[in-house]
Amino acid sequence: MTDPADTLPLLQMALRIEQDIFLVRQRGREAAAAVGLEHQDQVRIATALSEVARDLLHSVGGADVTFSVVFDLAAGRSVLRVDLAPVGPLPDGRYEPQSGAVARLVDMLAVVPADGDTVVRMSRRVPANAQALTPVRLAELRAELSQSAPGSALDELAAQNEQLIAALDEVRSQRDELEVLNEELQETNRGVMALYNQLTEELEETNRGVVALYAELDEKSAQLRTASESKSRFLANVSHELRAPVAAIIGLARLLADSASDPLTVEQARQVGLIRSSASDLLTLVNELLDLAKAESGRIEPNWADVDLRALFGQLRGTVRALATRPGVNLVVEELPRPATIRSDEVLLAQVLRNLLHNGLKFTERGEVRLRADRHEDRWSLSVSDTGVGIPPELHERIFEEFYQVPGATRVGGTGLGLPYARRLVKLLGGTLELSSEPGRGSTFKVSLPVGGA
Ligand code: ADP
Repeated sequence: MTDPADTLPLLQMALRIEQDIFLVRQRGREAAAAVGLEHQDQVRIATALSEVARDLLHSVGGADVTFSVVFDLAAGRSVLRVDLAPVGPLPDGRYEPQSGAVARLVDMLAVVPADGDTVVRMSRRVPANAQALTPVRLAELRAELSQSAPGSALDELAAQNEQLIAALDEVRSQRDELEVLNEELQETNRGVMALYNQLTEELEETNRGVVALYAELDEKSAQLRTASESKSRFLANVSHELRAPVAAIIGLARLLADSASDPLTVEQARQVGLIRSSASDLLTLVNELLDLAKAESGRIEPNWADVDLRALFGQLRGTVRALATRPGVNLVVEELPRPATIRSDEVLLAQVLRNLLHNGLKFTERGEVRLRADRHEDRWSLSVSDTGVGIPPELHERIFEEFYQVPGATRVGGTGLGLPYARRLVKLLGGTLELSSEPGRGSTFKVSLPVGGA
């Protein structure tokens, strides 16, 4: 803080008696107003000044008060400074305001050495937007302040009262504002609580819905299980019961047509032939139903053994060839280069492959039906591919459903039970049966099995 020796004080006065406290306060406010402090700051510094003045009057009997304007280099601003030089020595050379709040009213309040003496100094920064305090301006202010006659203690009391009322007003308006804010806050709180409650309720509602849905789902799947079990039981029973009479019909028809029996007319022989072939179809269906029901009810136990795939392929080559009756269709059962074994059930595996080969031959008019085996690490992939009609992608899963047949392809006969049965068996053997096919380009059914069995 620059404090040139030639800094002329704005105003000087003595503090000796009780009334001087009012004067010091009044003059302090005037000086603060003159240098451009805002109203609030004028009241602040005046209040601080009267408090310190009272303390000093009572503790050391008074002080000489000097107001001046100095330039604070650090703040880059002018400050209004008030020095109170006590008339007697300060106790312990120190000064503490009676009221702790006083120090907060000014920017600085401290005991400092000045001209070999000790003074109580306080200061407050002049706002940047105040009129520039040039030496000329300061000289004017000095003249104004020296002319303005100090008012009486009563005047100062009145002024102080006014300030008090203004301060009270301000406090009241701040309190009102606070109340409004509080109310708004409470309103918002109520809104948030309502929203929260609504959300909680909705969540609970959703939860209840989900719980109910799960219960229903559990119930439905239990019903489904029971239905599926009943269906298997029904199929097994019915087909078992049907088998004997159907076999009897076939036997009787054979007897009727036998040369040892009474001769039949041509028409009778034709009709007996129809009865026989219908009964044979029925027997096939009944047998397939029985197989499927057995597989579904888990009553088929694979007979695990090391199966030689080369031998199995050889056997299929022989038996399926008889079914390959179309001249334009070639049946190819590939040779396996090395002995190849898999832990499986030979009969069931042969049944699956025969079924797939049979289908391939049924649905292929031209080209070939091929069976091949590939080993991929610990799995065998046995695929049956054909160059037949193919299957539209949206039916790739449906054809594994019982009795499902691709519309238009039924003319070749069949029951729609072969593929679901084959898939069941492959599953029993620990593998998967998948299809890739494009209409008009043929189909490939791939059986993938673990080398070591299920
Ligand atoms: P089925 O052959 O006795 O009708 P499947 O369960 O074996 O019964 O086959 C179901 C249906 O899948 C067949 O009716 C046929 O429409 C279709 N399908 C099966 N294999 C093939 C194939 N290789 N090529 C084209 N369609 C096939």
